[in-house]
Amino acid sequence: MGQWLSISQIAGGVSSGKLKAVDLVEQSLKIITDKKEYDAIIATTEERALRRAQQVDAGEITGRLAGVPFIAKDNFLAFGAETTAASNILRGFNAPYQATAIEKLEAEGAICVAKANLDAFAHGTSTENSDFFTTKNPHDKTRVPGGSSGGSAAAVVLDMAPFALGTDTGGSIRQPASFSGCVGYKPTYGLVSRSGVVAMGSSLDVIGPLTRTVEDAALVLDVIAGRDDLDGTTIERDPAGYTKLDDSSLKGKKIGVVCEHMGEELDPKIIEIVNGAVKKLEDAGAEVTEIRLPSLPMALAAYYILCPAEVSSNLGRYDGQRFGYNFGEAKNMNDSYSKSRGRGFGKEAKRRIMIGTHVLSTGYYDAYYKQAQTVRTKLINECEEAFKQVDFLVGPVAPTTAFKIGENTGDPLKMYLGDVMTVGVNLIGNAAISLPAGEIEGLPVGIQLMAPQREDRKLLSLAKQAEEVLA
Ligand code: GLN
Repeated sequence: MGQWLSISQIAGGVSSGKLKAVDLVEQSLKIITDKKEYDAIIATTEERALRRAQQVDAGEITGRLAGVPFIAKDNFLAFGAETTAASNILRGFNAPYQATAIEKLEAEGAICVAKANLDAFAHGTSTENSDFFTTKNPHDKTRVPGGSSGGSAAAVVLDMAPFALGTDTGGSIRQPASFSGCVGYKPTYGLVSRSGVVAMGSSLDVIGPLTRTVEDAALVLDVIAGRDDLDGTTIERDPAGYTKLDDSSLKGKKIGVVCEHMGEELDPKIIEIVNGAVKKLEDAGAEVTEIRLPSLPMALAAYYILCPAEVSSNLGRYDGQRFGYNFGEAKNMNDSYSKSRGRGFGKEAKRRIMIGTHVLSTGYYDAYYKQAQTVRTKLINECEEAFKQVDFLVGPVAPTTAFKIGENTGDPLKMYLGDVMTVGVNLIGNAAISLPAGEIEGLPVGIQLMAPQREDRKLLSLAKQAEEVLA
């Protein structure tokens, strides 16, 4: 990493005429081509990106992100290339409008240069569920980059652009950030509009940046956060914004280590890294205690009921009639649905549709969906109590470092177990960040810092200080 200045420096350079947006976009596209073997990118938006760069250089487009290239996960509706969500069923789909997050970035002069690979529909932990290809880990091509925003994380670490957008339904920003070695920010649920992002689990989905530094993440969040008429679940932004970070010392900050996440399922070397990071925060003045969230061990099971339930409903719209793949020959409407969906969806999407339909069906609803909702409520309450005792929670991001490509594909349950440390945050809806904290045998390891809902600025402030302490 390191071919790019900070985002604000790049934009400052472009605004003062020292840097040319066209050069920046060309640099970005060149790195994408040079590092093609990592398969981080599904398509570039070259023509449109260069056109917009010329407009920036001509002073027709200005803003806080003037000329800054970025990459969007391919589940964001964006102009200039197809939007596929890495699924065969959406091949050939050209978005009729853009995601609010992309519109907001463009309004400040940023330039989308490419669409990144992901697990199809964001269902996964490794990008191996992409219907197209698997992205390679930037540190070891035989390993996965994490997922589902694996293309976005790898792209940032490979220097393809100064930042990328991802989505996080159960960990998909934080886990690839940890596996690939960058910062991954998951905002409070509702802080960033979901409009124009292919829906996975609507009560869990959030949008956030993958960056090289906390400062860059804060700036991107500042641009994309806030209420949007196109997404009724959005909340007001913090009136103070997200870039004026509190840089007073860590002294007196109360941080709770989540006991349930420091158990045996974790690689002992990861425990060591988390404990080491916590010790550094303590040495810098933070007050560290242990926190128990008794319902947390049930979070994974609850997530893999609630998320597929929402997935099965959200994927109902892909019927081959209005957009995306259509099988063609069919005896009647039902036959057409069944053939188009049967051919268009990959294995994992089908698995989730089946699980989701099952847990919602009469006779099973009470046993599964309702129970899972009860766990979710308990978890929210326990977390609220915890945040009366501490300002932040800390723990690992994932139980392992990046695993080998193919290692877990035959065992979906094993793959799901990798999400055990991230899904709780999505059920609760609070803010969390994955920060690089060390490495094991050349593979990056992140730590996860968590704050209450709407405390995004406080969390970013802590993360900025932690970043310095951990460096
Ligand atoms: N790995 C989790 C899953 O497969 C989370 C995915 C996500 O956050 N999009 O459901």
